Amino acid sequence: MEKWIVHKFGGSSVADAACFRRVADIIEASDHAREAVVLSACRGVTDSLLGLVVLAEDPAGDFATALDQLKARHTDLASSLVSSAAAMSYATKLNSDCQDIAGMLHTVRLIRAAPDSVRDVIAGFGEIWSTRLFAEFLRERSRIKGEVVWIDARKVVIVEWGSLGPAVQWTKSEENLKALVPRDFTGRLVVTGFVATTLAGIQTTLGRNGSDFSGSIFGALLDAAEIHIWTDVDGVLSADPRLVPNAQVIDQLSYNEAMELAYFGAKVIHPQTMEPAVARDIPIYIRNTFAAEKRGTLICAHPVSKLTVKGITTIAPVALVNLEGAGMIGVPGTAHRLFGALRDAGISVILISQGSSEHSICFAIPEAQAVRAEEAIRRAFDAELRDGQIQHVDVNLGLGILAVVGDGMAGAHGVAAKVFNALGSAAISVRAIAQGASERNISVVVDGKGAAKALRAVHAAFYLSPNTLSIGLIGPGTVGRVLLAQISSQIDRLRALNLDLRVRGIVSSKRMLLEESAIDLDHWPERMATHGVPLDLEKFANHVQADYIPHAVVIDCSASNDVALNYRDWLSRGIHVVTPNKKANSGPLTYYRAVMEAGRANGSHYLYEATVGAGLPIIQTLRDLRETGDDITCIEGIFSGTLAYLFNVFDGREAFSSIVRAAKLKGYTEPDPRDDLSGMDVARKLIILAREMGLTLELSDVEVMGLVPPELKNCEVEEFMRRLPQFDGVMTTMLTEATQSGQVLRYVGRIDSGGTATVRLTKLDAKHAFANIALTDNVVRFATRRYCDNPLIVQGPGAGPEVTAGGVFSDLLRLSAYLGAHL
Ligand code: ADP
Ligand code: ASP
Ligand code: MG
Repeated sequence: MEKWIVHKFGGSSVADAACFRRVADIIEASDHAREAVVLSACRGVTDSLLGLVVLAEDPAGDFATALDQLKARHTDLASSLVSSAAAMSYATKLNSDCQDIAGMLHTVRLIRAAPDSVRDVIAGFGEIWSTRLFAEFLRERSRIKGEVVWIDARKVVIVEWGSLGPAVQWTKSEENLKALVPRDFTGRLVVTGFVATTLAGIQTTLGRNGSDFSGSIFGALLDAAEIHIWTDVDGVLSADPRLVPNAQVIDQLSYNEAMELAYFGAKVIHPQTMEPAVARDIPIYIRNTFAAEKRGTLICAHPVSKLTVKGITTIAPVALVNLEGAGMIGVPGTAHRLFGALRDAGISVILISQGSSEHSICFAIPEAQAVRAEEAIRRAFDAELRDGQIQHVDVNLGLGILAVVGDGMAGAHGVAAKVFNALGSAAISVRAIAQGASERNISVVVDGKGAAKALRAVHAAFYLSPNTLSIGLIGPGTVGRVLLAQISSQIDRLRALNLDLRVRGIVSSKRMLLEESAIDLDHWPERMATHGVPLDLEKFANHVQADYIPHAVVIDCSASNDVALNYRDWLSRGIHVVTPNKKANSGPLTYYRAVMEAGRANGSHYLYEATVGAGLPIIQTLRDLRETGDDITCIEGIFSGTLAYLFNVFDGREAFSSIVRAAKLKGYTEPDPRDDLSGMDVARKLIILAREMGLTLELSDVEVMGLVPPELKNCEVEEFMRRLPQFDGVMTTMLTEATQSGQVLRYVGRIDSGGTATVRLTKLDAKHAFANIALTDNVVRFATRRYCDNPLIVQGPGAGPEVTAGGVFSDLLRLSAYLGAHL
């Protein structure tokens, strides 16, 4: 006979009618002759049933209404899934069950406290109801060869509850199953999960989430070839996906690894599930009901997997108890007495750690048991506490345990170092540590509030490239848009070099788009239109600084002063900032200093090469000169692409105003050309360089000769353009004077080491370096102690979206290198 396959579907897989259909499709897709389908109760039903008991214990609790709601949910489900005759018969049994439940609840109401046995009986109805309906549904669809038989596991699975939980009575259970299922059966068994019976014949459960255990018990009883546990995630993930959004599916796990993960809180599988499968070497697959085509996780005896660390989990809240005293040193039996006392009090210890001096023992327990534990210990060591042999019994509440699990850790070096490094960098303090001799698990007790952060930090250390940057971009206008396209074109190449750039937020003027893993850079405008939310810079920053991603950076491509006013906060909280926005560096000196200080004090980087000369290496050159000990005498140059263009073209053949008009039309000037002609933009750039030179200048210290006639300063742009020709005479006179003496006009900014900063229209010799530049070129000349006779010159296009975005991108890559990327 063909061997059995056992499936178990969790509550989330049978939440509603659509779910039932999906499960049936999965079962019917298989051409196996014999399969058993173990089901949980529909999602939330076990909780609701237990809630009824709580309502009954409370004199004011309305359990009748709650019971009616449960009944209605199931009758509705039946009427949408099976024929009306079958639905009627289902409802009759359901009514009778609900009457039984109501009877029990009335008794509970009278005695005010429910015995565990009543709780168990009531909790188990959810599985009876879901499976009874599913069996009927499968039968009516009749797409399966062979019979569909409903199995009430209470008639099969016999357990004895002991200190380690429910122990299956195998022989008895096998006999029971044989009596119900003939040896040559073909078809489908639909089996209730979760429920069982004790040797004394009393109905019980296998504990919360016990249907996984039911699945493997039936796997063992039927000697199945495989067990498939179907849930709502793609398999066992490297961490709880609700805490670590980028957790990965683990391909394969050993039984021990799976057990360890389950024990330490990976809710996806129940720890006891492994034991029946291990004994018979049955592979367990964890799969997604909602994505049945995916492979899922295989749990087996000899997994083949490259991963050293398989999963990272947390349990919280726990309490850490510390027993300390010189009297314990070298005294045999202290641990025995301690843990004996805890056992007698019914307290389960999650983790133990004892220093080799034996001066103290500390252990972690579920926080809810802390008070009882302390009482038990004080009672057990009453004499020692009184005579001072034991000085302290400390109980620390509100902690969490982080467990890192993987068989491969045994032979690998540096795993513990990586864990503690990650915890250290995330500023998490470690309260206790335990590593078993198997080296399969490193457990660390941390502050409960920091447990999720600890989990993310350690997860990032093992599963992400250490060079993963969470990026938020502000201002996807001319430069920002091009920058996004440039990043997009390089993203795969950089990932191959281990640099993972993830743009996770984009802020436009009123809205923002935030995405958890990364925004698709080729379609962000469409996503912004459909998924954009109102702008909130605080939310944006919190999102960008996701604590499960190693680094966060904001790229500010706006020209906004308001945005620049956030740099200090961002840098203080560890967010790096990259920008072509001049506002912070050329604004008030006090704020500029505060920004620089915030970066220094918090180890965050602030990069702004593109504020001067777009993509040209001007700030970096200046820094290199200073940092290698050179002294800057003077920096001089043409810092405005627009003004460079205007004076390159202005040769007397055409009036200055009409050149301005043409340049405006070509988009070479700002929408209001006065923003260029005023000279303030050049003055801002000079201030940035001055401060970079160590000078403490304010913008108002720059002597600026603007080219906007005072009469036209305050009018509308249109009027300005209309009246500008009236002033052509002044410009023409200056040009003529210059030409007559073999000179040209150039708009030059200059700053010297004495702190004199000027921006003016200057006459220069026609052979001067600044006289021979093309179009919108910028040119910057550094006169220094080393470069004195023949100054250092940086020249090239200094404006335009492509080169500016390129400058910002280089800063981003420079930042990545500072953070450790090898490009
Ligand atoms: P079911 O109803 O199928 O029994 P559970 O809710 O009991 O499902 O378990 C599945 C859930 O376990 C997932 O939705 C996920 O949120 C959670 N979970 C916690 N840790 C992990 C992990 N390491 N891997 C996968 N899922 C996990
Ligand atoms: N229905 C039970 C519970 O919620 C068992 C299970 O779903 O595994 O605990
Ligand atoms: Mg479960």
